[in-house]
Amino acid sequence: MLIKEFISKSDKNTMISMMFKYYRLKSIRVKEKSIENHAHFNVDTGTLELSTKYKQIKTIQLKDFLITILHEIKHAIDAKRYGWKKFKRMYEMEQNMISQGHYPGKDDPYKDNKYEIDAENFGRKNFKKWYMKFKKERFF
Ligand SMILES: [Zn+2]
Repeated sequence: MLIKEFISKSDKNTMISMMFKYYRLKSIRVKEKSIENHAHFNVDTGTLELSTKYKQIKTIQLKDFLITILHEIKHAIDAKRYGWKKFKRMYEMEQNMISQGHYPGKDDPYKDNKYEIDAENFGRKNFKKWYMKFKKERFF
């Protein structure tokens, strides 16, 4: 069985589009940006930023790539559900509650933030389904 070593930029973009369509996120603003991570949901602007840094990705990095994209997609789903401005306030409120010591045992406004935990769980729960789908459709 031959597995492609790399996934091209256009295949990568097609995969992202398929996920966006599935989660009905067409109304979410997307911006290409030179960032270190594959993607980042900017809570301050309600924009999903996609990295232009990687022209292609290695197939062995696909799991991490999918988890990252799905993590950011979960933020976008929340932003769409509540409206991004309201979601920004909810997210910041959560950060403040942690910073001010309202949650025993939680001290990191990022890592302990429930929206971050939800997003990470969403990514880890759903990546396999997409991995199998993309494999079946011969992206790699
Ligand atoms: Zn996040």
